[in-house]
Amino acid sequence: MEFPVQSGLVCARCGDSVDAAQLEAGRPNSALCRTCRLAPPPFVRAVAFGPYQGRMKEAIHALKYDRLHPAARGLGRMLAAAIAELAAEAPAAMLVVPVPLHRSKYAERGFNQARALATHALGFLSKSHPEWRLTLASSTLMRLRATESQAGLTPRMRRLNVRGAFTVSDPSAVKLKHVLLIDDIFTTGATARAAAQALVKAGAASVWVATLARARRISEFGRGVAFQDGEQIEGMTGDAPAAVFEEGSRFSSHDQPSF
Ligand SMILES: [Zn+2]
Repeated sequence: MEFPVQSGLVCARCGDSVDAAQLEAGRPNSALCRTCRLAPPPFVRAVAFGPYQGRMKEAIHALKYDRLHPAARGLGRMLAAAIAELAAEAPAAMLVVPVPLHRSKYAERGFNQARALATHALGFLSKSHPEWRLTLASSTLMRLRATESQAGLTPRMRRLNVRGAFTVSDPSAVKLKHVLLIDDIFTTGATARAAAQALVKAGAASVWVATLARARRISEFGRGVAFQDGEQIEGMTGDAPAAVFEEGSRFSSHDQPSF
């Protein structure tokens, strides 16, 4: 019945697990993972409720294929708990932008699970943090291309595939605004980086990210990269130095989350 929660040291930017060797002496709260040190993401900070495994994985799968699934409200409460981690440092007013599906995926599924989760989460937050002005802005971001089917692509191809996948429909709506980007799962961060990049390009003052679950990166067969959810296999976005992400060793055991 329990949903797993993330424990241990996490990267101050992306929330990935980091080991003690990556800590700077005397600065335990400022640990950055290797990825964020080498290629700082365009978002300020990403938080997640817990790892994408066990009951969480089952519940997200159920939600994706049944919009009225009884799990939706409970998952929304968990997302609200993750968002609340940002309350102390995030701006007092933010636009809440769910990561959009491509229209072909939307037509197939009939709803956007990120939007459903955001709607439920905002309901909880309006009670727990009534002073926090969070406004749902679900038509702000558009997905120009479907980017889910990236299995079999090299990291470089994945990075190129997701580059420019998002655009802001009306830049004046986000100009100088602080944005909280919402998605169900955070894997490599490629989607969050691409979406945040589009928002920053449109003039957003800052972008923050909250997801329900963080998928664990796992290595298979001694080389290459595999993820727990094939749908989420994505590379890094274009602003990252190519050399860093084209080596399979980026996801070596040294960098693996340990939860
Ligand atoms: Zn990081």
